[in-house]
Amino acid sequence: MSKQAGPNTLCVHSAHAPEPATGALAQPIYLTTTFERDADGSYPRGYRYSREGTPNRTSLEACIAALEGGIGAAAFASGLAANMAVLELLNAGDRLVAPLDAYYGSVKQFTEHCARRGVAVELADFTDLTAVSNAVGGRARVVWIETPTNPLLDVTDLEAVTAIAHRAGALVVCDNTFATPICQRPCDFGVDLVIHSGTKYLGGHSDVLSGLAVVREEHALLEHLQAWQRTAGAALAPFDCWLLRRSIATLALRVRTQCAGALQLAQFLARHPAIEQVFYPGLPQHRAHATAVAQMPGGFGAMLSMCVSGGRQAALATAARTRLFARATSLGGVESLIEHRASIEGPESRTPQNLLRLSVGIEEPADLIADLEQALK
Ligand SMILES: *Cc1c(COP(=O)(O)O)cnc(C)c1O
Repeated sequence: MSKQAGPNTLCVHSAHAPEPATGALAQPIYLTTTFERDADGSYPRGYRYSREGTPNRTSLEACIAALEGGIGAAAFASGLAANMAVLELLNAGDRLVAPLDAYYGSVKQFTEHCARRGVAVELADFTDLTAVSNAVGGRARVVWIETPTNPLLDVTDLEAVTAIAHRAGALVVCDNTFATPICQRPCDFGVDLVIHSGTKYLGGHSDVLSGLAVVREEHALLEHLQAWQRTAGAALAPFDCWLLRRSIATLALRVRTQCAGALQLAQFLARHPAIEQVFYPGLPQHRAHATAVAQMPGGFGAMLSMCVSGGRQAALATAARTRLFARATSLGGVESLIEHRASIEGPESRTPQNLLRLSVGIEEPADLIADLEQALK
């Protein structure tokens, strides 16, 4: 397929063709753990044992690599398992620089797992390029970006941070879970490795846990990830690969609809008297709106947060009154969710107590607005 194919075309056709043996249009789910050798002992069809690779994993990995503009990808049993495959690159004495407000599960991996292995972990405010520069110093090994962030929807300048990191010889990783390749392609800004919690938008239906790591151009990096799939054994199962690949067929449709809904909701909330502040990169008043415009050509995402006046109790009471928005953690599914972040993040959370995070689904924006209107009364 031509490299210029648009997102919807890539979503439908990447690494997807009728199955040669039967003509089945949908890919079969290859529920086999082992594959037969030829009489000479070789494996001419490329598969030996399912931890090492399965046809369903091959097509999923090729599909996400095409969408992100990379040379290849590796699928894992969860987003955090994909993170671990990347963090395995770090040895004792290496320095990891990451945002203070990265996904809390990722920060736990950095500060507990990496630190215990002797990795120097520097958490910095990534909206401040001087702070990033100081944290990187002359010798960071990995610089970890997440943009937009969770739950404050801060935007990191991909091009600027990548330049700082590359000057120090560091590898740049970007968690692109919130934006998806439909809104933002970090590889286009020089990022070396893109991470996804496929559990969120790629899966899109709140029914499959998964993680993906996409490599922009370095073959040795891809080989490291593939070796880690075999060694750690946390590869994604065939049925889960199949679910994810099927969901990606509608990724652009879903995400574009969700982004349009999120923008309407953000505009409504920005005018609402019971809302102190709205965090959404698509609003002109967002502090990094210009950066978001430059690096998110496909949309500003479908996550937004709001601070409700009246503190923690008012926020919890608002969430208690919604009817369409389900009170649940996670994000990226077709159904809208509302979440009091501080109480799930625990006592160390830096999230304001009156903050509610919304994951906007594909429902009609007018219905979602009406639901919030009655809940905020
Ligand atoms: C959910 C999430 C993760 C972790 O992914 P799992 O699939 O839950 O392991 C990592 N980063 C971000 C931004 C997430 O939202």
